[in-house]
Amino acid sequence: MRLALIHIAQETNDFNPVLTTLADFEAFGIHEGAEIARHFGEIGQIGGHYAAIRESGLDIETIPIIRAWAVAGGRISREAFDYFQVKIRAGLETIGPIDGLVLQLHGACAAEGIDDVEGEQAELCRQILGPDVPILLGLDHHANVTQKIMANCTAIVGHRTQPHDVFDTGKIGTEVLLRILTEKARPVMAWRKIPLLSHQEQFLTSKGPMKRWFDRARALEADRRVLQASNYPMQPWLDVAEGGWSTIVVTDGDQALAEALADELADLAWSMRDDFQVREAVTVDEAVHKADAAARGMVVLSDTGDTVFGGAAGDSNLILEAILRLGTKGRALIPLISPQAVQVLIAAGEGTEVTLPLGGDAAPAFFAPLTVTGTVRRIGGGAIPLAFNHQAEVDMGRVVVFDVGPVTLLISELRGVAGNVPGVYEAFGIDLAGYKMAVLKTASNFQYFAPITSQVIRADTRGPGQSDVFTLPWRRIPRPVYPLETISDWRAHSSQPGAGTG
Ligand SMILES: [Zn+2]
Repeated sequence: MRLALIHIAQETNDFNPVLTTLADFEAFGIHEGAEIARHFGEIGQIGGHYAAIRESGLDIETIPIIRAWAVAGGRISREAFDYFQVKIRAGLETIGPIDGLVLQLHGACAAEGIDDVEGEQAELCRQILGPDVPILLGLDHHANVTQKIMANCTAIVGHRTQPHDVFDTGKIGTEVLLRILTEKARPVMAWRKIPLLSHQEQFLTSKGPMKRWFDRARALEADRRVLQASNYPMQPWLDVAEGGWSTIVVTDGDQALAEALADELADLAWSMRDDFQVREAVTVDEAVHKADAAARGMVVLSDTGDTVFGGAAGDSNLILEAILRLGTKGRALIPLISPQAVQVLIAAGEGTEVTLPLGGDAAPAFFAPLTVTGTVRRIGGGAIPLAFNHQAEVDMGRVVVFDVGPVTLLISELRGVAGNVPGVYEAFGIDLAGYKMAVLKTASNFQYFAPITSQVIRADTRGPGQSDVFTLPWRRIPRPVYPLETISDWRAHSSQPGAGTG
């Protein structure tokens, strides 16, 4: 048996005006052919695929075509979109007959002029492969599920946890495909769009309403007829024509069961729509005071508005400003993405005192530059080794460690993983034990700092990833959508034409 494997993923934030280009994908490595298995055969979603193949004991050949991943950011460039279309086409047209395609995409990727990148990619694969080759699609659960995605895939699986266990998704997806190919399972899908948005403060699947919703999907899968039940709380900064939450149920040949369970999962999410809106963030000043007053570090300050893992640009200086103004006793680590500042500081050289404006280079609608004086501690760059769930290293371009009062800034040219992984600081000789607080550019991915974290405080920062979804400049998302509008009669929506089977 022969399977093809394609993995292309980026999560788009429509409120970050900076395009994600091929260079952003190259910072994490674009790989083709056999080298994909060498680099990723044991890790991430691709590693999960190979684990499922091994555990099946079946004689299956995998032909990897392309693997490309970029950290969340602005829309991908048209050049990047076209590049991937060409690679997909070339790969599938030259591969010879295959029994199935493992397609690992994100689901919340948009490009210049294209709202539904994954729908286009899935449609291209279907056009080349014809109607009979099963396409198993793995999606991030922050995906925006669309008509085209549903129409062109045979079965769909989504991440089960936030933070994501991408290995698990890869393994489960391929296991579902093997049930189709070897046990003659006949997948049928039902899906529902849910006219709902929410900030990310209730997005962890370990507690609260998200746990209840995802636990229910797992419970439905206890029925052997249910191949997969997956929920999709769309990441809250995607402004596209078919935007909104969704749920998909895949059963073995039982359309009525799939429809009933999709209704149940959609209704459950809708019934908790206000629970998903509960805010935990405190003002920036309060967050800084609390962190400084904590008995011990490392206190994580979550800069949600500038979440690089949610696609923000990483150029916020709001927490930096508050720490300098309030004069904290404890020392703080803050990442900043600024090619301009890197240029100035490298020109000045290590050991030099420099006064310069910082922040607001990329998203000026949210941030204004702040003039600070500090000392260049270290200049570096190149590949940084990472303890990360699907990536062994990252290139963040040139990097400068810059000390400003109680703050040590890690300023980089590329967003990479910002300061969300301790190894990034350690790679530049920074001893984390000397710090009381660390600003993380994420609303959910605290797992890499967790072993050294005493508490997490969410700061209510503005920015392209802000929790306040009401004041974001929405243009394309279908209206009405809750909570931007009050919707009283939503149940009618779930049986509207087009919201049923794929
Ligand atoms: Zn996600």
